[in-house]
Amino acid sequence: MPGATTDGRPSQEEAEAAVRVLLRWAGDNPDREGLRDTPARVARSYHELFAGYDTDPIALLERTFEEVEGYDEIVLLRDIRLESYCEHHMVPIIGRAHVAYLPANRVVGISKLARVVDAYAKRLQIQEKLTVQIANTINAVLQPRGVAVVIEAGHQCMSTRGVHKPGVSMVTSRMLGAFRDNPDTRRELLSMITPRPANPFEG
Ligand SMILES: [Zn+2]
Repeated sequence: MPGATTDGRPSQEEAEAAVRVLLRWAGDNPDREGLRDTPARVARSYHELFAGYDTDPIALLERTFEEVEGYDEIVLLRDIRLESYCEHHMVPIIGRAHVAYLPANRVVGISKLARVVDAYAKRLQIQEKLTVQIANTINAVLQPRGVAVVIEAGHQCMSTRGVHKPGVSMVTSRMLGAFRDNPDTRRELLSMITPRPANPFEG
């Protein structure tokens, strides 16, 4: 989120002015001491919270390794911390993602899978779309024999407002290739991600 407006984005000053409006809208006084620097802090923190808009997920996956001695079993990155933001209420979606693929001759550095999760999570999202975007991108770039993405997350728009139901997690999955077509492969994956303590995160 650069300060320049060449890409049509508002300036830092405009973003700060918008935060001041919301503070007044909420009923507070943006000129009181405790809030004086808040608009600048909020605007800066958006750089971090929404860093995904400036990340190209495809570029993250372009470097692969082919010397894998014929490894052709499931590669699973389990329990990736997920921090995203509900596009309807702009409040956090917190949970974890499990990302798996079945390599076809080449593999990618495992940290890259976590970075792809972040590239899509650090945007305004709904969980269903986030799940599909991660899986489809890995599928398109790596062209493996299968991709599976499972996300479990709590939505603060449900826990701290609205129906006020904390402790509820939403689970979404996207299965492609062998994970979709072969029941044994799908079962093997699910057995790899299920055994763990229940619901250790708080929506
Ligand atoms: Zn929401």
